Amino acid sequence: MNKSLVILGSTGSIGEQALDVARKNGYTVLALAAGKSIDKLEQQVKEFGVKAVAVFDETAANELAERLANTDVKVLSGVDGVCEVAAIKADIVLNAIVGIAGLRPTFAAINAKNNIALANKETLVTAGELVNAKAKEMGIKIIPVDSEHSAIFQSLQGAPEGSLSKVILTASGGPFYGKTKQELENVTVAQALNHPNWSMGSKITIDSATLMNKGLEVIEAVHLFGIAPDDIEVVVHRQSILHSAVELCDGAVIGQMGTPDMRLPIEYAITYPKREQMCCDRLSLTDIGTLTFAKPDMETFGCLKLCINAIKEGGLKPAAANGANEEAVALFLAGKIKFLDIEKCVEAAVNAQPCVESYTLEDVFEADINARNLVRQMAN
Ligand code: NDP
Repeated sequence: MNKSLVILGSTGSIGEQALDVARKNGYTVLALAAGKSIDKLEQQVKEFGVKAVAVFDETAANELAERLANTDVKVLSGVDGVCEVAAIKADIVLNAIVGIAGLRPTFAAINAKNNIALANKETLVTAGELVNAKAKEMGIKIIPVDSEHSAIFQSLQGAPEGSLSKVILTASGGPFYGKTKQELENVTVAQALNHPNWSMGSKITIDSATLMNKGLEVIEAVHLFGIAPDDIEVVVHRQSILHSAVELCDGAVIGQMGTPDMRLPIEYAITYPKREQMCCDRLSLTDIGTLTFAKPDMETFGCLKLCINAIKEGGLKPAAANGANEEAVALFLAGKIKFLDIEKCVEAAVNAQPCVESYTLEDVFEADINARNLVRQMAN
């Protein structure tokens, strides 16, 4: 089947894998967007015959425009440019931007009545209620790309409405599984970036090491599946073969398994409800032999608990947790704070964020900025 795509964050880990899927299936790529990686963007534009491209960074956008001057490719810049690309009419807009930078483009895609394949979990973490309400108003679908949420989504196909009783959200446990707080005191950036099962962008890899990623995913699941935080069980599953499961009201547990390869959930989000021929390695259960499951250590990896509490309190607490985490991860990657400081920053920002009943998109950005400022003060 042919599909027309817009890919936001095309130069990143998910974006490049999405282009792999497009290449294999012969999809039409209408437009691309990224932050600043114009060498990759230029090559992608040429390979896929793309007609419009947006670069968030203005200087990089100008340089790309010069390089593409004798073509008919439209080069846009800034957040408005990224939003303009997100609003190009397509079968699906894949949002694989990292961080809250993906939020406005998600809204732009929804307002243009584009269906969305959503990898940018920060969209739902920071503004889940607003995004869901807008998606409902515009009658568009948001299909998860995150492997766990794709697994839940796939497991729910055919389940009667109202039959979901529990989500079983699996976690690899990251590179520091089994370690004590004391052992985490002086871990290095290189150690934290060494994920056992997945090759991903640096921000989500650090989030996996702190278990913040699992916390963000709990919040994401609440918004995607309308389930209460108490009905989500996080289970450490070191092999990353069972990507997540659901328990239905009669006690049946249905899960989705596969090799740890993001191309499958990316492809499913594009082809849903249909499926293409396989794009990944086959799963051999006998080669794997043993699948293990354990409870997460939420005392050592406190970010998970902080996120669960943040979504239980609701309002802008999740946005504060996310903003603090984005800032703290950037500081950790730059060697300016220690690994365990990330959790302290998230905790301080969640505590500092007042409880509110309702909020606007601008309130979300304000909560994000306040949380980032607090983290910068803590780092000084
Ligand atoms: P990467 O860091 O590899 O890629 C991020 C992409 O976002 C890049 O293309 C980057 O462009 C672009 N970008 C950054 N800032 C902006 C901006 N302001 N405007 C436009 N584009 C921007 O991240 P990942 O691919 O790992 O993750 C992307 C999202 O998917 C995250 O939300 C992550 O949590 C989620 N996800 C990722 C998984 C994975 O396996 N990687 C699995 C599940 C979810 P540039 O290269 O120019 O900086």
